[in-house]
Amino acid sequence: MNIETEQEFIDRRPQRLCKMCGKCCRVVTSSVSYEDMQKRALEGDQEAIDFLELFEPFESVEAAKAVDREIVENIPDYENRTFYTCRFLKGNLCSRYENRLNVCKRFPSSPWAVYPPGCGYEGWLFVEREKIMKYVRGLKEEQLKYKMMLKTNPELKEKLEKLISTIDENIKIFAEYGSEKW
Ligand code: SF4
Ligand code: SF4
Repeated sequence: MNIETEQEFIDRRPQRLCKMCGKCCRVVTSSVSYEDMQKRALEGDQEAIDFLELFEPFESVEAAKAVDREIVENIPDYENRTFYTCRFLKGNLCSRYENRLNVCKRFPSSPWAVYPPGCGYEGWLFVEREKIMKYVRGLKEEQLKYKMMLKTNPELKEKLEKLISTIDENIKIFAEYGSEKW
């Protein structure tokens, strides 16, 4: 299996799966607080500038829930989050589709993208995650085999240790998604 770049993943994403429901634009949250987002934007962070160009915060979590309770309650620790809605969403459609920002064009950009319940990509992303987990489990089996060989083939020590270390590096690529435990 080739470990693909984010762009390669985006390029093969089946866009026909999008139901054009607008959920990913109607109620969203960010990993950083609104205050931090504003601070980052003032410091010139382009991702924060883009985010604030598109999204305005709801006055409260309750206000976001009134628009889509399911999306809000699907987010861990939602009581302590800021939720936003896009200024450019009209009905279910984007009013600046031709000029939408990269952040919009790129969603979902990874098998681990956070998507709203009912997103058309849900099943496909699940399969993509499973493929990667299967690949990592295969790597771990291979690594175990080399570790066993190491015990009985000291003359291959250098070669086997290099293989083991290369596999470690490949597993670590997915560490932020929990690959150590797969
Ligand atoms: S600009 Fe369009 S695509 Fe981007 S978040 Fe807003 S409505 Fe969605
Ligand atoms: S939530 Fe999913 S299906 Fe709905 S518009 Fe966004 S990407 Fe498309």
